[in-house]
Amino acid sequence: MLHERLKGKTCLVTAAAQGIGRETALRFAREGARVLAVDIAEDGLRSLAAEHRSIRPMPLDVTDPHEVAELGSTVAFDAVFNCVGYVHHGNILDCDEQAWRRSFTLNVDSMYRICRAVLPAMVERRNGAIVNMASVASSVTGVRDRFAYGATKAAVIGLTKSIAVDFVDKGVRCNAVCPGTIRTPSLEQRIASLPGNHAENWQAFVRRQPIGRLGEASEVAALVAYLASDEAAFTTGAIHVIDGGWTN
Ligand code: NAD
Repeated sequence: MLHERLKGKTCLVTAAAQGIGRETALRFAREGARVLAVDIAEDGLRSLAAEHRSIRPMPLDVTDPHEVAELGSTVAFDAVFNCVGYVHHGNILDCDEQAWRRSFTLNVDSMYRICRAVLPAMVERRNGAIVNMASVASSVTGVRDRFAYGATKAAVIGLTKSIAVDFVDKGVRCNAVCPGTIRTPSLEQRIASLPGNHAENWQAFVRRQPIGRLGEASEVAALVAYLASDEAAFTTGAIHVIDGGWTN
């Protein structure tokens, strides 16, 4: 039973075409928000928009500074979910300059850019909630073969805490979510591309989480919707871990 906690709010969701971003865009809409759903995958955006009339799809590349700045100057958002992220597999010796740069461009620079674009309108109206997608693979814990990824997600946590402290007296909250392993199309692809037995590889991901299963995108979406809503009015600068007991 949903309570329309986002009724009347205008929300932005990045990486909205699939996975956690898509589930969150739907959850925001079901909670009463008007949602601008952005991604580079136009087919996914179209099928998402067909699922709820309050979702407006908009192709946008979060690595393009001009597109992002223009978005921030044309729409005033009440809540923003920065969900874009990319997983590079491997340790530091597997991570060349290009992989390192790509990881930071997509996972960190995009968040810097979007936060900078949406904050002025939030400050002007003294109202705003930003939720940034991090991971337990970050400053929360080290995860094998997640060198560049873990470094970027630790940076997301630092960025989140800095924004939270700088804008706490200006009506803006900023929080990070740190999922464990969540069943999404990109995770399924990554497991399928690993060498060895597929079922055993899958079980290795499940075993990391003492609760005995992978998380669902809808479970992360529920947490993000709470953080975006006024119910979370006393919460800022916090790391919200949702990992089936992995890092407990
Ligand atoms: P995903 O990888 O399945 O989808 C990512 C989406 O981002 C795609 O629709 C893609 O088209 C879009 N995208 C890629 N580059 C873009 C760009 N330049 N501009 C705009 N959109 C772009 O998503 P997911 O697995 O749900 O992961 C979403 C986020 O959650 C990521 O930040 C990821 O690091 C994080 N996360 C995922 C898990 C997991 O287990 N799935 C765990 C922890 C954190």
